[in-house]
Amino acid sequence: MSQRLNLIVLGKQGAGKGTQSTVLAERYAIPHVSTGDILRNAVAAGSELGQQVESILHAGDLVNDELVNQLVRERFKEADAQKGVVLDGFPRTIGQAEALEEMLGDDGIKLCINLDVPTELVTQRLSSRRVCQECGATYKDTDVEAISGTCSACGGDVIQRTDDYPDAIRKRLETYERDTEPLLKFYGARGLLVTVDGDQRPNEVTDEIMKLVHERGLA
Ligand code: ADP
Repeated sequence: MSQRLNLIVLGKQGAGKGTQSTVLAERYAIPHVSTGDILRNAVAAGSELGQQVESILHAGDLVNDELVNQLVRERFKEADAQKGVVLDGFPRTIGQAEALEEMLGDDGIKLCINLDVPTELVTQRLSSRRVCQECGATYKDTDVEAISGTCSACGGDVIQRTDDYPDAIRKRLETYERDTEPLLKFYGARGLLVTVDGDQRPNEVTDEIMKLVHERGLA
């Protein structure tokens, strides 16, 4: 099949988008494109972009559509993205979804996977989440890596993301409801939306997603 496998993973913060996107990207040999990671890396590197967005990320607000659209447009030009991508954290506004349709043209989105998890559960997951600053591995606050502050995978520092504190979590979930939830209708109307229960073990969620991809003859 010459068509690109462009997938979107949608869901609240803490729904497991990053975890599932990483696995799907590996299974289908396409890159995992996370706008959150791109922006956080820019902040860590202290680049011009990073300086521009640091306070926005810290507060849990959204970076403006134009800037994010441009980042994704550039990412699509890279060689590894020509077979398809797993999009994680993009689009998250109607404006971004419309821009994405323009970017991809006829060879558009093949499936939008909505990871459904209740708000109380994602709030719990986010407050206890700790991440490795180097490799992005995630841990719970009770894991030995979180307590020692050292990643067992790469030796990097394990920290709490600045937007995983209560005020920022609340704001991000409100933003999700206001700006991102409308995308469910947007992709639903295009017949591209599937919803998967995100409150299962990660491998069960993956199996369900892969079954849906397979049933649609996408891979
Ligand atoms: P989460 O989904 O848990 O908020 P992400 O890693 O996807 O985490 O994003 C972290 C932050 O990066 C967001 O709170 C926002 O400030 C910024 N960001 C990421 N993706 C986008 C996007 N598509 N549009 C605007 N801002 C974004």
